[in-house]
Amino acid sequence: MEASEEMGLSPLLSSPGRDFLISSDGSQIGIGELEGKTIGLYFSANWNTQCESFTPVLADVYNQLKAEKSPFEVVYVSSDEDQSSFDRFHGLMPWLAVPFSDLQCKKSLTQRFQIEAVPSLIMFDPNGETLQMEGVEIVYRYGARAFPFTRARIEELEAEERAKHESQTLETLLSTNGRSYVISHSEQLPIRSLEGKTIGLYFSGHHCPPCVKFTSKLVSIYNNLKSKNDNNEEFEIIFVSADRDKEAYIECYKAMPWLALPYEKETSKALLKYFHVLGIPTLIILSPDGKTITKDGRYLINLYADMAYPFTEERIRFLQERLDEEAKTYPRSVNHVNHRHELNLVSEGSGGGPFICCECDEQGLGWEYQCLECGYEIHPRCIKEEATTQKIDE
Ligand SMILES: [Zn+2]
Ligand SMILES: [Zn+2]
Repeated sequence: MEASEEMGLSPLLSSPGRDFLISSDGSQIGIGELEGKTIGLYFSANWNTQCESFTPVLADVYNQLKAEKSPFEVVYVSSDEDQSSFDRFHGLMPWLAVPFSDLQCKKSLTQRFQIEAVPSLIMFDPNGETLQMEGVEIVYRYGARAFPFTRARIEELEAEERAKHESQTLETLLSTNGRSYVISHSEQLPIRSLEGKTIGLYFSGHHCPPCVKFTSKLVSIYNNLKSKNDNNEEFEIIFVSADRDKEAYIECYKAMPWLALPYEKETSKALLKYFHVLGIPTLIILSPDGKTITKDGRYLINLYADMAYPFTEERIRFLQERLDEEAKTYPRSVNHVNHRHELNLVSEGSGGGPFICCECDEQGLGWEYQCLECGYEIHPRCIKEEATTQKIDE
């Protein structure tokens, strides 16, 4: 292990008889070309959807760094199933690769860096010292600004980000290029007119079944809240589209009674990144002064419905305590009609955690019934007791 640290990364990328890597047009590039560069080893495969979505993101970063003449290179280590899939996938990448045929090299890299899942991106400094194991997350989060991917650089970016979140207002979040309004189905509304309200930023998309399902739930909760006089003027939701095109955006917005950001791909992208939204639907709650209260709006709506409003820490603590009190009356174990094993009551402190309910497919958090044997998890409210399991021998 120590020996290769002295020699850098190059010996690991070559093998007896091969001192080159290949570019995506098939040409051979001497491994010496890597000298003096920061290197990303990219473990990936065409059949994995996360790899498929991350590759273009990394390609943007790569092209940007190349345009700036930063000493940076990426080397693809493939887990593709055959040569033609490899050729096709590598064809989408502007960087180098270990030849597909060198399975031994791929195997030893995978073992050495203990790669358990793709995509994985490991960053190395020009001496071959590991800089970052979590390259995928860092590239998603900071893009090309993370270069040269040193710890000091990442800490700098984190501090910058904290400062930005601390000074955030609704206006700084949502306005851009001279646009200082959001829209409703009938008009433009100045962002300023929303100051002082609790705001839900709703990231959603048309081609996303969980979004469609959650939207309809959120609509009924929104209407409930709006019909209660005291919340009428104090709560608003703004749709932020994660749609691929304007047609999908228009379709998606049709189902929503609240406000929306106009369709601007760049603004949506920037907001998704700013809040580190990893999946949709996501509901982010902002306080009346524009600061982020929670990114768990979806969980809270699923758990407490309109009771969750105004989503403040005190409110959630109150609801949590009430739920804990209620849970004391739940049986410790139950038999549920759709599962053949007995289920046990758990909460976050006792083996539970965020889960997807096997009965209603919605997210859950907090109290749940769980089967340790099969990982079956279900909301307490979704339990249907087996009426026929009563003992008959009495
Ligand atoms: Zn459920
Ligand atoms: Zn079970």
